[in-house]
Amino acid sequence: MYKLIKRDGNAKRGEFHTVHGVIQTPVFMNVGTAAAIKGAVSTEDLQQIGTQVELSNTYHLHVRPGDQVVKKMGGLHKFMVWDKPILTDSGGFQVFSLAGLRKIKEEGVYFNSHVDGRKIFMGPEQSMQIQSNLASTIAMAFDECPSSVAEREYVQRSVERTTRWLHRCKEEMARLNSLPDTINQHQMLFGINQGAIYEDIRIEHAQQIRELDLDGYAVGGLAVGESHEEMYRILDAVVPELPVDKPTYLMGVGTPANILEAVDRGVDFFDCVYPSRNGRHGHVYTNHGKLNLFNAKYELDPKPIEEGCQCPACRHYSRAYIRHLLKAKEMLGMRLCVLHNLYFYNHLMEEIRDAIEAGNYKAFKKEKLSGFENNA
Ligand SMILES: [Zn+2]
Repeated sequence: MYKLIKRDGNAKRGEFHTVHGVIQTPVFMNVGTAAAIKGAVSTEDLQQIGTQVELSNTYHLHVRPGDQVVKKMGGLHKFMVWDKPILTDSGGFQVFSLAGLRKIKEEGVYFNSHVDGRKIFMGPEQSMQIQSNLASTIAMAFDECPSSVAEREYVQRSVERTTRWLHRCKEEMARLNSLPDTINQHQMLFGINQGAIYEDIRIEHAQQIRELDLDGYAVGGLAVGESHEEMYRILDAVVPELPVDKPTYLMGVGTPANILEAVDRGVDFFDCVYPSRNGRHGHVYTNHGKLNLFNAKYELDPKPIEEGCQCPACRHYSRAYIRHLLKAKEMLGMRLCVLHNLYFYNHLMEEIRDAIEAGNYKAFKKEKLSGFENNA
């Protein structure tokens, strides 16, 4: 259940109530692809860096260790020892981007596993069954994510199929949630808006899927190669077509600047691999731009990554030490950078929520954006 607490322009400050606790929005979900955040980050660490929601990938967990294994271990929450909300994606995006030799049919997609090449079939029902076995808090509908440069005619047909798949997802989830051996019988379903960069297709699709009265709505298929301006144009067109009294999730986005802009357009859920991926490469976020800790100028720098940051890295360690760890390929270097970056994102969302509540989001956004451009 989503409760809209405050609006400031189009920006939304909300609370999403789930069986695993309340999510304060806007929120950044921390991406743990295979039930762990890459960079040796444990679920205990997540408690310390302000993580509200962990996101895991259905496709990866289906291939390895297998969703049946996770179910036998009591579901993802027990398996990874995390009692707060978990969102699982549908597997669709990975099927379309990672798997080899795929064939899309009305019933679903035939493809080969990227791990061992074995043949797999996944359609709306299979995706829902896998996510039910994983027992996540929020399941995503199985959709096709057409390329942002796909032909209009292809996108139109693809989106129509995605709508038919969404109906099948909703029915299958209702069935699964009613079974006695289902671990999370309160699993929620988010539908996904598609339509590449065609505003009219996106708007029509949004109008169709909002009729289904789902628990939340995502905008998918953005941040896959189009420009930031195109992404903002699509958000300007489509977000007003989605229910204001439900969460709006912009999938796979993005940079801190992208998030600030999307919040201003009414988005309140985000996820992205940038903070963990960049952290593993020694690239760290600050309010004065991104730093590359491999840079020689940090060799004797006693300051933390960011002055005043309360993350586990900045509370104790210097840029010089972390730089040394990264250069020596010590796992701790990568870990500290990932912890800082995730904390930075989670903390940014907290500041965003405060600014919306205070009714000064526009001014806050402007100040943050000019800071990021400093690149100290
Ligand atoms: Zn820090």
